[in-house]
Amino acid sequence: MLKRDVHLMQELINTLTELIKCRASNREGANAAIDYCAARLKKSGVSVNIHENAGYRMLKAGRGKGTGKTVILHGHVDVIPGEEMQFIPRIEGERLYGRGSYDMLGAVAVMLHLMERFVQYRQHPDVLLMLVPDEEVGSNFGTPFLIEQGYTGGFVISGEPTNLDISLQAKGVLHLEAEVKGVSAHGSRPWLGENAIEKAMSIYLSIKELPFNRVSNDYFPAPSLNLATINGGKVFNQVPDSCSFGLDIRYLPGQNPEEIIEEIKRVSEDMNLKRVQYFSPVSVDRQHPFVQALFHAVAKFSRDGARFFGQDGSGDTRFFTPLGIPAVEFGPCGAGHHGKEEFVVLPSLLEYEKILLQFFNDYLS
Ligand SMILES: [Zn+2]
Repeated sequence: MLKRDVHLMQELINTLTELIKCRASNREGANAAIDYCAARLKKSGVSVNIHENAGYRMLKAGRGKGTGKTVILHGHVDVIPGEEMQFIPRIEGERLYGRGSYDMLGAVAVMLHLMERFVQYRQHPDVLLMLVPDEEVGSNFGTPFLIEQGYTGGFVISGEPTNLDISLQAKGVLHLEAEVKGVSAHGSRPWLGENAIEKAMSIYLSIKELPFNRVSNDYFPAPSLNLATINGGKVFNQVPDSCSFGLDIRYLPGQNPEEIIEEIKRVSEDMNLKRVQYFSPVSVDRQHPFVQALFHAVAKFSRDGARFFGQDGSGDTRFFTPLGIPAVEFGPCGAGHHGKEEFVVLPSLLEYEKILLQFFNDYLS
């Protein structure tokens, strides 16, 4: 490793360590992480705006003009809960273990360093850093609020863990609750009733076979369907007259959630279907100039070359694409996010920083 890289690596490790130690698995911890980032940036001369919504703090930093040419670096500082030892970072070989190291404090550490670096540029790139505190708990207060404040741009890079691949698509989310009615009877004479649980079972199996669940595209072999909850029956000696179940459907870009609901409704007239939650899918054109620039920068510095893919889970990119702002997920390498042994691969943080620098330098020239 070059001497300069050794120095940079140590700086990134220090920053990441400080971020993990904020224990950002609740609002207080996430606010502490935002405060840490704000103090760091201000000290380096980066302009910072702090906002608060429902007690959650978040920040916007940098000299982005908010036009179609502005690149937004987006990150969440919150992490999911972990065991005590996960908040004490440790290094083993090339890996740094700790809650949030991979999802996505490693990327946030790199973004902080980049913003500090840009201040020293004679020609500051048109870039805006957006850090939010609540992505892991539904993004009800962070990203949409900052967008409402007028912080937008022409391209978004969200540093979610992607192993230096570029996520161009993300599945949409459709949460439905189905209630199935039956007829109760004494448990010793089930033929006199209509068992709602059995009926729900067969309805669910039919839903699984519906055409909407067999659609594919370049990035996904199929949508996904998870039978997430089920409630029914009260006592042994009664035929249950009601059963409800919850479906977590992850549908593909291009699929229409209303049509999916209509398809499901046609399975049975004895079912009441309720829409609980809905997030739109994400789809970005791979020929977009910003996307191409990022792809070429990745090809130059990533050990594994550049690759596009589709993300199964839904991230904050979903708030930007409906506004016509292409938003990709792109972050460093690692594994175990949301698990007990979460780690980030340290050399990939260096690669991540170099890729983003290359991307901005190409953009400036
Ligand atoms: Zn994340």
